[in-house]
Amino acid sequence: RILIEQTDPELFAAIQAENARQEHHIELIASENYASPAVMAAQGTQLTNKYAEGYPGRRYYGGCEYVDVAEQLAIDRIKQLFDAEAANVQPHCGASANEGVFLAFLKPGDTIMGMSLAEGGHLTHGMALNMSGKWFNVVSYGLNEKEEIDYDAMERKAHETKPKLIIAGASAYSLRIDFARFAKVAKDVGALFMVDMAHYAGLIAAGVYPNPVPHADVVTSTTHKSLRGPRGGFILMKAEHEKAINSAIFPGLQGGPLMHVIAAKAVAFKEALSPEFKAYQQQVLKNAQIVAETLTQRGLRIVSGRTESHVMLVDLRAKGITGKEAEAVLGQAHMTINKNAIPNDPEKPMVTSGVRIGTPAMTTRGFKDEEARLTANLVADVLDNRDPANIAAVREKVNALTARFPVYR
Ligand code: PLP
Repeated sequence: RILIEQTDPELFAAIQAENARQEHHIELIASENYASPAVMAAQGTQLTNKYAEGYPGRRYYGGCEYVDVAEQLAIDRIKQLFDAEAANVQPHCGASANEGVFLAFLKPGDTIMGMSLAEGGHLTHGMALNMSGKWFNVVSYGLNEKEEIDYDAMERKAHETKPKLIIAGASAYSLRIDFARFAKVAKDVGALFMVDMAHYAGLIAAGVYPNPVPHADVVTSTTHKSLRGPRGGFILMKAEHEKAINSAIFPGLQGGPLMHVIAAKAVAFKEALSPEFKAYQQQVLKNAQIVAETLTQRGLRIVSGRTESHVMLVDLRAKGITGKEAEAVLGQAHMTINKNAIPNDPEKPMVTSGVRIGTPAMTTRGFKDEEARLTANLVADVLDNRDPANIAAVREKVNALTARFPVYR
């Protein structure tokens, strides 16, 4: 830090400002979290200098004996965490983990089935502008009238279209996913079954959300959301798929692995194996339920009616405000949030009628029941009265709250 200040004051100022923003704002973006100082320290080590194409014990470069130890620790820990037969910890991010699976098992023109982006899926699950949507024939499933995954329609479509790969997993779905049901459909139609657990990974690691690993051929994930690691991805798989996945990631999709990030993944996985992490995730879940209940009491509608995870979608229409406007006014009150389309949203994707709220970050900084309830009330206070004086008054309360719960002491 001191070095950056001396060598690059311009950049240092931006980093300082971002650090302050993260301390002073309440982070409500469901896909974000605060990595531990140990995770961040691992990323700032000399491991960033090392080329290590290949896998532990089978590298294309000399001098890999110590990074081999780091990568093997990450592999062993993530397998233990999720009870998986095999793991690849090299994907640079969640999108490349998914692309690795596609490269391993699919050819352009094959049919894949995933949850539609408009109803909660991720863009790598077949959105038209994404590689998954451009290279494959995409069949999407979505929600029923209760705003729960329409398993019956998914099953029907799978039988009609015979996809080669079925993907379960979402970026904006608050309920538990019935992985066993998906697995049965995939088996019945002869499809491979992939789960993208990026959002739920931390909850799953702690045993507070169902584990897809026993049901799926492959499970992809990010490391930086509820799992609270560095930015990155990984893939878990049945042993029979290990060779295909490993060669799809390298040399298929990526070159040299980011060994400093893999070291940071190993640190995060060790943290996630601790009893404290289980208690943390239990509180993430509790905080989400408190936020959902409080917002409901304040006249807002939670999509799907409730949350069974760390995330929820909030329908703002009762307050006469769009997602875009809500994101802006809440930002002025130092609460960071993202606009998000709700099912059958009448507004355009850049406007939306909803926001997505998640509790992993607030819980990392120590928010418990009382602070979660207060946060939800402050959100509703802003949505109810967007007058600048009221926004300023709420901002004062947010600042007082975040000052009591510093993230990085
Ligand atoms: N999969 C899901 C379900 C996600 O929500 C995300 C990110 O939001 C990704 C994959 C992509 O991860 P990344 O941004 O690391 O590529």
